[in-house]
This record gives sequence, C-alpha cells and structure tokens, in this order.
Amino acid sequence: MLFDRDGTLIRDVPYNGDPNRVEPMPGALEALGRLRRADVPVAVVTNQSGVAKGLVSPDEMDQVNAKVEELLGPFDAWAICVHDDADGCTCRKPAPGLVIRAAAVLDVSPRDCVVVGDIGRDMEAARAAGARGILVPTALTLPEEIEHAPEVADDLIDVVDRVLTDAEGPVPAGARISAPWARTMGWSRW
Ligand SMILES: [Mg+2]
Ligand SMILES: [Zn+2]
Repeated sequence: MLFDRDGTLIRDVPYNGDPNRVEPMPGALEALGRLRRADVPVAVVTNQSGVAKGLVSPDEMDQVNAKVEELLGPFDAWAICVHDDADGCTCRKPAPGLVIRAAAVLDVSPRDCVVVGDIGRDMEAARAAGARGILVPTALTLPEEIEHAPEVADDLIDVVDRVLTDAEGPVPAGARISAPWARTMGWSRW
C-alpha cells in the first residue's frame, strides 16, 4: 500500500524542513500497524517540490523523512519526487512515476497497489499507473477532488478496513501463498 506523505501520513506543513514539526495524522500509526501485521508492504510516494524550489534542502528532507519513520515505523520503500511542475519529470504526481517506482522496489505490479492520498494529484497518479486510488480528504481537499475520486475514505483506519476487510485472521507459518490479504489485494504473484 502506497501512501502520500503530507496531509495523508503526517499533517501538511507546507515546505517543512523541520523534523520537530512532523505530526502523524489521526489513525496513521494504528493503520500502518495493522498493515504490517498483515504482511502488507507499505511505502511512501511523495512530491517534494520544496527541494526544487530551494525551500527545503535534501538533508532537511531526509531528516523529516527519518522523523516520519521514527514516529510511524519503517517503510518498505520511499519514492520521492524532488522536481517542480516546470521540470517536466515523469515522477511528480499526477504523473505515475512514483507509483511505478515504489511498486518496482516492492517487486509487485502497480495494478496490485493501493495509493492513498489527500488530493486529486494522488488519485491521478494512481489512475495513470493502473493502481487503486483511495482519497482521504482533509479540510484542504477541494470538493471537485472528492467528487472525482475513485473511492473516498473517512480516515486511514477506514482505508485499512476497506483493503483488509476480513483478511486479518492469524496467518499460519508457511501459509503465505494463501494469505487472505493476498487475495483481497489481488497480489497475483503470490
Ligand atoms: Mg498530500
Ligand atoms: Zn519528479
């Protein structure tokens, strides 16, 4: 499962380079814990144009990301775009590059990924990569972004409820091939 960072995993503090200002979104820690216990890989797909703009140094960004992992636990992959709109890169959401890159690191198809984000760009990136998109709106999410979202959840707990459904029973050792969550998420290679 691929998460946007700002406004999704942590509170959106525009162009934040200060790890002390990192604050998890409600339910983030619990949601991630449930996914990890269910053996669902978790990754971050994040636009960080503050780096291209010179507002956040790469080192500050690294410190903020390290704080995110300190507060929310380790992620299996980080895919970060440090460009801005004018750079014409293939990774800045709504382009699909970050989703494709994170899926490659996790060694799964983008089609077997769920992208969770708070704005339309996240949902566009998911759609462009062939992934399932789930929008978790905040006060900053535009009404038309909610209207056009393929799926809307109340919060991160609701997201996990939707994805895991009844797949959270204990998985016996060696039973990974038939793990319930694998069927739920359509991870065909498993
Ligand atoms: Mg966001
Ligand atoms: Zn980029």
